[in-house]
Amino acid sequence: MVKEVAAFSENVSDEKLETDIENYVNLTKELGATDVKKIRTDMIILDERVRARCYSPRCPYYGTNLNCPPHFDWDVEKSREIVSKYKYAVFIMLEVPPEEQTGKDYFSPKHKLPGALKMYEIVAKVQSAAFYDGYPLALGFAGGGSCKRVFCSAVDCKGIKGEGCRMALKSNPTMHGAGMDAYSMASEVGWKIYPLGKTTDPSQIPHGLELGLVLIH
Ligand code: SF4
Repeated sequence: MVKEVAAFSENVSDEKLETDIENYVNLTKELGATDVKKIRTDMIILDERVRARCYSPRCPYYGTNLNCPPHFDWDVEKSREIVSKYKYAVFIMLEVPPEEQTGKDYFSPKHKLPGALKMYEIVAKVQSAAFYDGYPLALGFAGGGSCKRVFCSAVDCKGIKGEGCRMALKSNPTMHGAGMDAYSMASEVGWKIYPLGKTTDPSQIPHGLELGLVLIH
């Protein structure tokens, strides 16, 4: 049976919001997330230092796409302003093999990031479901790898040439690009997160994490 599309209303009842968010929690699990939490937006940790890490040491994706600075140009203050307009978000976690997030070839296009790709897909699907449920301002943030790394590692970003994003309905800014301290937030909700870098020995780490977030209402 085709689901009836409800007319938009700014006044969403607590009951509807509760039911819809529970549906998004279930949806993320059906799509393969390891865990997901409904969180209040005052649990979103924003910190200028997270964004500073895009600049130093300079991320190889800085300036290469629409979703990383400086093209993604809202600062942490703007993120605070935006986040404060929402009451609830879903915070999504996917455990991935540590090998996916380590190794000297990490930045090579040949090193695939299936977990990051999956997180982009989950975030986009939750954002879309919320849109059709009457939350047109639902806003998604994907996880670790930038969209350039995940979708366009072998081609130039069309977005910064003014030709439109190749993956407009799938790509989002990352949590860290918006200044969200995803590591601390994961730890706060009880998810184990480990420092993973190019030189990490993956055999010493139980898992890597991909994290994503959708502001709902
Ligand atoms: S075209 Fe590719 S790199 Fe550019 S914003 Fe879109 S997904 Fe990101």
